[in-house]
Amino acid sequence: MTSIDNNFQLVNDNSYNALIRGNSQWVDLKLKEDSDYFKKLAKGQSPEVLWIGCADSRVPANEVTGTKPGEVFVHRNIANVVVHTDMNMLSVLDYAVNVLKVKHVIVAGHYGCGGVAAAMSNKQFGVIDNWLRHIKDVYRLHAKELDAIEDVQERTNRLVELNVSEQVYNVCKTSIIQNAWMERHDLEVHGWVIDLGSGLIKDLKVSSSSPHNLGYVYELDSLNAVAQH
Ligand SMILES: [Zn+2]
Repeated sequence: MTSIDNNFQLVNDNSYNALIRGNSQWVDLKLKEDSDYFKKLAKGQSPEVLWIGCADSRVPANEVTGTKPGEVFVHRNIANVVVHTDMNMLSVLDYAVNVLKVKHVIVAGHYGCGGVAAAMSNKQFGVIDNWLRHIKDVYRLHAKELDAIEDVQERTNRLVELNVSEQVYNVCKTSIIQNAWMERHDLEVHGWVIDLGSGLIKDLKVSSSSPHNLGYVYELDSLNAVAQH
């Protein structure tokens, strides 16, 4: 078995060591506020919110919502996309909904999203092009509205909003959410956009708490139901 090289020397140690120092300072601060802080944190989590956000370093879920560790369960990827074959997203969603019993699933995009901007261009960026194709699909669905917006910045901002709305829809279409809605009525799915320029969250008012708006092709019978067809 190979072992980790204990003589490893950091080439770029500034940003790396800053993280370790930052952690140490954070621990000191937390312990000053509450000497039992980490004992309590280690006991477990019961967050009421699942955050599906962009991987962009400027939109950390806890900081932009003023919440603490333990309050928000988080999944992030480039441009907050909900893909139905993404086992990572499905696993997070299933655990959040069926084990943690979260009450809110929030898809959070942000203006100035590099992923959305890249999806609007025809340039190739590499493997990511296949991921961005999901956002191009959103563009195609709303091409009439988007093509009518002349200003590129405005058009990009609108695609950010439409992408969030479509991903909210994608969350609602999963068997995980639909089955949960058959059992309980305290689970809501929401769509937000963070404005990096002001820091403020814009609620897109696309919240859903039932499968009624999904369209018949997406509706699922109860797992126990006898086929009526
Ligand atoms: Zn982004």
